[in-house]
Amino acid sequence: EPMIIAENVEKWYDNNFHVLRGVSLTVNRGEVVVVMGPSGSGKSTFIRTFNALESYQKGNIVIDGIRLSHDLKNIETIRREVGMVFQQFNLFPHLTVLKNITLSPIWVRRWTKAKAEEVAMQLLERVGILEQAHKYPGQLSGGQQQRVAIARALAMQPKIMLFDEPTSALDPEMVREVLDVMRSLAKTGMTMVCVTHEVGFAREVADRVVLMADGLLVEEGTPEEFFNNP
Ligand code: ADP
Ligand code: ADP
Repeated sequence: EPMIIAENVEKWYDNNFHVLRGVSLTVNRGEVVVVMGPSGSGKSTFIRTFNALESYQKGNIVIDGIRLSHDLKNIETIRREVGMVFQQFNLFPHLTVLKNITLSPIWVRRWTKAKAEEVAMQLLERVGILEQAHKYPGQLSGGQQQRVAIARALAMQPKIMLFDEPTSALDPEMVREVLDVMRSLAKTGMTMVCVTHEVGFAREVADRVVLMADGLLVEEGTPEEFFNNP
């Protein structure tokens, strides 16, 4: 049973701009898919439909056997299953790193503060920033903030992780530390869909690379097929 089935997803805006023109993609359990393509081709819009951050007018999306609907309960369920990391970390600036991570598990998963903090500290260790736990996001480098964002998403124990250009806002020297965390996450068997321009990451980590252009999926293949056939 695939983790993500997107079938002929279409979205357009009131001005008739057709941002998704019938996009289909199936992602298997444990698979890492990298989505590439020019700016404005619909990559971000497409992956945001997987956790109901983006609505669409036509098509079907099924996440781990659950079909997406407009029902609020359904959206809550899906959001628990699908973690997301954004270009602009989106951390709460007035909360410490630890609180940023424990907030959702406490409120959404109803964990005790003690359990949420235990899990958070384990995750901070895993992403290599345990010593930053009691600082505020503004006191961290961009790379550290992005690692907090990854830890925060993982704290909800999602089945799928979406990454939307997670290194695009980072200084070059911080890109690697974030890609390394993503690489080790892929090795744990996490199902991942990553919009990124990082060709090295796509070559080494992706099981499959897909190319979007003008709201369509125009090419797909293994990294070997994808990068060696011009
Ligand atoms: P990518 O991630 O590939 O850069 P996006 O999914 O961000 O592409 O593409 C969004 C496209 O949709 C852009 O061309 C943007 O201008 C357009 N768009 C976004 N919001 C609206 C809107 N409200 N009305 C019309 N066009 C929009
Ligand atoms: P990002 O690139 O950060 O994902 P966009 O630039 O696509 O986001 O969109 C930022 C905001 O501007 C969104 O609310 C989107 O709906 C709006 N927007 C983007 N492009 C257009 C457009 N061509 N017409 C109207 N609104 C747009």
